[in-house]
Amino acid sequence: MSKEYISANAYCRRIFGCKVYKLSLSAATTCPNRDGTVGFGGCVFCSADGSGDFAAPAVLPLNKQIEDAKKRLGNKGEGLRYIAYFQSFTGTHGDLAHLEQIYLQAVEHPEIVGLSIATRPDCLGENAIAMLERLSRLKPLWVELGLQTIHEETAKRINRCYSLDVYKRAMDELKKLNIHRITHVIFGLPGESHQDMLETTAYVGQCTDGIKLQLLHVIEGTALAESYRRGDFEVLKADEYYQIIADALKILPDSVVVHRLTGDGAKKDLLAPLWSADKKKVLNNMNRVLRLNEIYPVL
Ligand code: SF4
Repeated sequence: MSKEYISANAYCRRIFGCKVYKLSLSAATTCPNRDGTVGFGGCVFCSADGSGDFAAPAVLPLNKQIEDAKKRLGNKGEGLRYIAYFQSFTGTHGDLAHLEQIYLQAVEHPEIVGLSIATRPDCLGENAIAMLERLSRLKPLWVELGLQTIHEETAKRINRCYSLDVYKRAMDELKKLNIHRITHVIFGLPGESHQDMLETTAYVGQCTDGIKLQLLHVIEGTALAESYRRGDFEVLKADEYYQIIADALKILPDSVVVHRLTGDGAKKDLLAPLWSADKKKVLNNMNRVLRLNEIYPVL
């Protein structure tokens, strides 16, 4: 039986009536898993800049970050529309008044049609939720949570430092706001089987509005890189990853927006899997496997 899924592009056209580009920006400068609030050292796969590999440093004024991000996209045309994507670290942790001021600058920018804020489910207390609610009244707001896996053993292995029930409570709380909730899932985490990854997909599919599926990248300088060099685990082969993606898409509810089918790690720091460095080739081969499985994006 064939299956269709809603891509990010299709979703944006539906919501904004046009193609929308994402600008990777920075506001937060740390996360509770690095500053000692819940842990030190961070998640084992996370790069030094808090997984904001393409975002400008948070010290730069927002307008400068926006102009730089537009240049990186190569977009010189007038009339283009953007989502301000605050990707680095934890976007609702730390000085909320300062963060809100930066988000408001983005909201006020005439070319920015919506905001996307990446955070952790354990950083959504009363004040953070109130801030998100205020922002959501101004422009469409997406909140992105890095769950990666539902399996507690893996969560310990990757030093995520919160449990699954915290994610579930956060998703329920966010549902009360008028926002689009996106969950990040990583395939290929150490110790996980194909079945484990599909269990995560099935669970997340029942909780979320959108999903980002990502291949585990081993990045130089991370704890994961040390573990990989010791031979503690193997990374996924290309064909394995494509088949997991196909099987995951088959079990996701039709309403879930698929924002990403693979990651975008910084190539210069990628230790493994090296086959993933050629994104164009990866997408071509993945689309071939998806077509063989009769899986198509909604246009
Ligand atoms: S992935 Fe997010 S929560 Fe984990 S260390 Fe990086 S910034 Fe912190």
